[in-house]
Amino acid sequence: MKTIKLLALSVIVAGCITSCQKEEVATEVNEVSNTPTKKQLLKLNNMGVNTKNVSIKTIENLDGTIEDYFVNGTDLGIPVAGLNDQEDLGTLDNGMKQYRTRNLVTGSNRTIDVLGYTGGGGSGLSSTGQQALRRAVDNYNRVNSSLNMRLTFGTNYQAADLVVYVRSDLGAGGLAGFPSGGRPYKWARIGPDVANRGVTYATHVITHEMGHCIGLRHTDWFARSCDGSNEGQGNDGAIHIPGTPTGIDRASIMISCATGNENGTFSSADVIALEYMY
Ligand SMILES: [Zn+2]
Repeated sequence: MKTIKLLALSVIVAGCITSCQKEEVATEVNEVSNTPTKKQLLKLNNMGVNTKNVSIKTIENLDGTIEDYFVNGTDLGIPVAGLNDQEDLGTLDNGMKQYRTRNLVTGSNRTIDVLGYTGGGGSGLSSTGQQALRRAVDNYNRVNSSLNMRLTFGTNYQAADLVVYVRSDLGAGGLAGFPSGGRPYKWARIGPDVANRGVTYATHVITHEMGHCIGLRHTDWFARSCDGSNEGQGNDGAIHIPGTPTGIDRASIMISCATGNENGTFSSADVIALEYMY
């Protein structure tokens, strides 16, 4: 089974409701398949993870691999497997700056073959979703960095490094993970309602989820804009990126909860972060 590091701290996304002004970029996964044990909750707490409303979610990827994750309302998940190997909380840096994970995409892996999945079963991107993915890839390729994204559409997920596809349980949000082994996290999933909200919103969500896949944390990971909760550093870390602002960068595409005014582009500090990382 592939090692999938979904996230670092928190998991999944939340999608808020339109009436809620602040919409989370990801949507909560609906089904609760399991409740964590007390021991697991204690460990998560020691890792700095917000343990309110944690549940265990079984996620089957496009390639049939199945993983269990702790989810707690963000668009990231913590793998159940190997929980005890994860590090406890380190020193927090509460600066509202751009943050990255400990692991990044390295070497030749920085040429990333991105697949926009167009297969059936409700997993394929609509034409709006495809247009948004083109824009998201352009966002990354416009940044002056060593990353190079090569986009194709189709069904050959085996050959791709990063696959963008639709999961029916994600509403207007997304779900992704963080890099491991020098490679990007492979699955950037979006909910079926993402493209229904138009190409700009879809570009925002896809660019955000792809940002996790290459190692960007939420800019406000320690005090989420929706509810002030702390996602915790987890095993993936939350390392401040030099040169990014000390105030809250509300324009960052990596803010945990959308505001409804997303323009689908990076903020200037996001660009600084990416150029520093890559
Ligand atoms: Zn996110």
